[in-house]
Amino acid sequence: MTRFIFITGGVVSSLGKGIASAALAALLQTRGYKVRLRKLDPYLNIDPGTMNPYQHGEVFITEDGAETDLDLGHYERFTDVNTTREDNTTTGKIYSDVISRERRGDYLGITVQVIPHITDAIKNTIVANTEGFDFVIVEIGGTVGDIESLPFLESIRQLRNDLGLDHTLVIHLTLLPWIPSAGELKTKPTQHSVKELQNVGIQPQILLCRCDRPIPPAERQKIANFCNVKPEAVIAARDVDTIYACPLSYHAEGMDIEVLRYFGLPHADPPDLSQWENIVNALRYPDSEVTIIIVGKYTTLLDSYKSLNEALLHGGIAHKTKVRLEWLEAEALEKDPTAIHMLLSHAHGILVPGGFGERGAQGKIEAIRFARENNIPFLGICFGMQMAVIECARHLANIPEASSTEFGQTSAPLVGLMTEWTRDDELLRRSESGQLGGTMRLGAYPALLTEKSRVAEIYGTTTIRERHRHRYEVNVHYKAQLEKAGLVFSGLSPDGILPEVVEYTHHPWFIAVQYHPELKSRPFAPHPLFSGFIGAALKQARSS
Ligand code: GLN
Repeated sequence: MTRFIFITGGVVSSLGKGIASAALAALLQTRGYKVRLRKLDPYLNIDPGTMNPYQHGEVFITEDGAETDLDLGHYERFTDVNTTREDNTTTGKIYSDVISRERRGDYLGITVQVIPHITDAIKNTIVANTEGFDFVIVEIGGTVGDIESLPFLESIRQLRNDLGLDHTLVIHLTLLPWIPSAGELKTKPTQHSVKELQNVGIQPQILLCRCDRPIPPAERQKIANFCNVKPEAVIAARDVDTIYACPLSYHAEGMDIEVLRYFGLPHADPPDLSQWENIVNALRYPDSEVTIIIVGKYTTLLDSYKSLNEALLHGGIAHKTKVRLEWLEAEALEKDPTAIHMLLSHAHGILVPGGFGERGAQGKIEAIRFARENNIPFLGICFGMQMAVIECARHLANIPEASSTEFGQTSAPLVGLMTEWTRDDELLRRSESGQLGGTMRLGAYPALLTEKSRVAEIYGTTTIRERHRHRYEVNVHYKAQLEKAGLVFSGLSPDGILPEVVEYTHHPWFIAVQYHPELKSRPFAPHPLFSGFIGAALKQARSS
């Protein structure tokens, strides 16, 4: 029978609950268990798709096209198990489902209430399609004590009774702050936060305590006494230099053993952690270093490009190379055109990532032009590909008015709004005035690569499946004109209508893709485009 592990957080946010959940899942995998991860988010949005990156960070896209929380990205990167739209639920979605059922008449005659109707809907979501998994790890977003998370906590409390205490476990993540004047790791915030949980009827069995140093035995005992757990179940989650060291560090602190012991499972044999050791070694002891400049928007908030950040790191792991990232606000390149050389010429690679709206677009186009004209390796992603096509149209194919309809009416729509496309033989339609939530081309679609193209060489195949998130498409009608100028359309949708990859052939490495390859990169299986890009940057670094 499937076992459920609930992970809650206390004291403050940003303690790394998502990574803790993912790292525990990875540790259980090293012992041969089949795991699945889920996240419950307390906010009222149906999904994070319409949220500003400043509010929410990256929107992670699943294979089946759901716009989800960025923690699902960590889950996939640590476990290599693809998440689905079922794996991220919000309060908004739960309420919306219950309310539409009420309108349909499903509850006729009954007063619809938080308990049991909302909590039943939450419980059903948690347990749906979990057969065949040894462990389902369910992360509860937010911090205990928040009003919004109460229905989720109540559902966990009930589920522990429904499924049995021996099949459910609650791990609470807290913070042990170091107070220099006292020279102590303080346990009081943890005590208070566990009390909050106990107030709603939940007793955690394991406490994972974020701290910057080891927990002394006296403090460990104190936490155990006050929080009603065993001293061995107080696990230190020490600060680490890379998130990929978490599985190793948790194992060293006895986390996996404590979990297995709780469920009465064997734990005497040590797990094989060599995969994680190799990753951490490649990151800690690189042989070389490259500088990649990312020209985007929201560059001050690194969470908004989480997967991209990680994928570049993975590309570095593939070459045992440290990838130094520089984030550049695209608008900086617009204000002062003379600055372009100064800001970009030390780059060993230039990347223009996904983006929305006209602000900064001109700066991105300038950056792409600089990369192309100066033979600096270039990778364009989604909006970055659209801007690369506009750049080449303007400066190589002599279409000076080339633009995207995302920026308003244009006489040369190199990039245009897509209103029809097919998915698995089904025709999908969207009107120009349609709503914004959930109306993009989302999720994994197949693409065919041209034989012998650079991109086919990089992938080692001509059929790929990659994840998308965009409304606009490069206009295939300009294909012949651009190819004559050197920008080859080397990847297309199987029906030949939607350009997926372009590459500029008179250049050492200039590739742009309509999809988001960063979403499928893993530390132990770097995405070929990222290892290719970092490989090209390394060559550039060696020759400069
Ligand atoms: N804004 C562009 C579009 O909607 C690109 C989106 C993206 O980069 N994710 O097509």
